[in-house]
Amino acid sequence: MKNIILTGDRPTGRLHLGHLVGSLSQRVEMQNSGKYDEIFIEIADAQATTDNFGNIQKVKYNVIEVALDYLSCGIDPSKSTIFLQSEVPELSDLTFYYMNLVTLARLERNPTVKQEITYRGFDKSIPVGFMTYPISQAADITAFNANIVPVGDDQLPMIEQTREIVRTFNRLYGDTLVEPKAVLPSKKACFRLIGTDGGAKMSKSIGNCIYLADSPEEVEKKVMGMYTDPNHLKVSDPGNTEGNPVFIYLDAFSKDEHFKKYFKDGEYKNLEELKSHYEKGGLGDIKVKRFLNYVLQDILEPIRLKRSQYEKDIKGVYDILFSGSDKARAIASETLFKVKKAIGLDYRNDEDLIIKQSKKYDN
Ligand code: ATP
Ligand code: MG
Repeated sequence: MKNIILTGDRPTGRLHLGHLVGSLSQRVEMQNSGKYDEIFIEIADAQATTDNFGNIQKVKYNVIEVALDYLSCGIDPSKSTIFLQSEVPELSDLTFYYMNLVTLARLERNPTVKQEITYRGFDKSIPVGFMTYPISQAADITAFNANIVPVGDDQLPMIEQTREIVRTFNRLYGDTLVEPKAVLPSKKACFRLIGTDGGAKMSKSIGNCIYLADSPEEVEKKVMGMYTDPNHLKVSDPGNTEGNPVFIYLDAFSKDEHFKKYFKDGEYKNLEELKSHYEKGGLGDIKVKRFLNYVLQDILEPIRLKRSQYEKDIKGVYDILFSGSDKARAIASETLFKVKKAIGLDYRNDEDLIIKQSKKYDN
């Protein structure tokens, strides 16, 4: 079996640190490992309309931002196919047939959808399109025969939903679709990076993000304004590192080499030593935040530089998206053909159909 990856992001804003640790870095690593036959990266503009239907311009204008973020993080269009969901209408056809295989109750039980409904204030009136987006994600994944989906952990219920659809489809109509599996980041702190406000998840739609394209000054301002342990009032107070956003970010981003570089006198050799001093008391929040700022600037600087180069050729970036979309469309239409054949809606390719029906009507 081929190893095929499908991942994607909604063009609802620029990408942030949560995307970087939750899925982007892993995509780049997988892309460069040479171990995968195909990598498809979808900019899910159609899905983003399900909660932005009153502001499609926002979706449209953020496509280029997401594409620039991909390229600046090391996604290489000669190795990975970046495409636009709305340019592949076959995905909507697939969604339509998969809808029959899922109950409303099953969609309502999806914990991520439930949480997102609350965030978006949809509690009283949920658009049908939004409710069904896990089904369209199943179409996105299966259209490309993807068996591997690198995601943050908020997406696990979606992948489970896709697996169920695949199993139901294959049972009803014969073995046709590939059952995918989710691949989570290697570090727990990266599964679902919290927001700078300490909220459950850094998310474009909530606005508690450090964006990959933020200027050095913006990053510094956001880091210095981050929540820490609310009971750590004086430097001498013992502090809590567990659940403390600044330490969660250090868990996700810092490496021993950062300690070597920024604590030259060997004051702290690694995160364990820094944590233990904070917990004992005597280490101030400002010092920890300054260190976090250096770490993040180190990570973001090369991304910023690469981005500024791609920003000089916007037409070139759109060309990448359009040729990726053409390639994606060709593959999705092969899958749609197989799916329609499997379910039996293949009029033009059923050679016996006209013969049988003609006989029935004696002609
Ligand atoms: P929106 O608020 O519009 O839903 P988002 O910030 O949640 O945007 P998505 O485009 O929905 O971003 O997510 C794309 C991918 O990034 C998914 O695989 C998701 O799991 C991952 N991801 C998003 N936010 C985080 C986060 N804070 N931590 C880890 N992974 C994340
Ligand atoms: Mg999301």
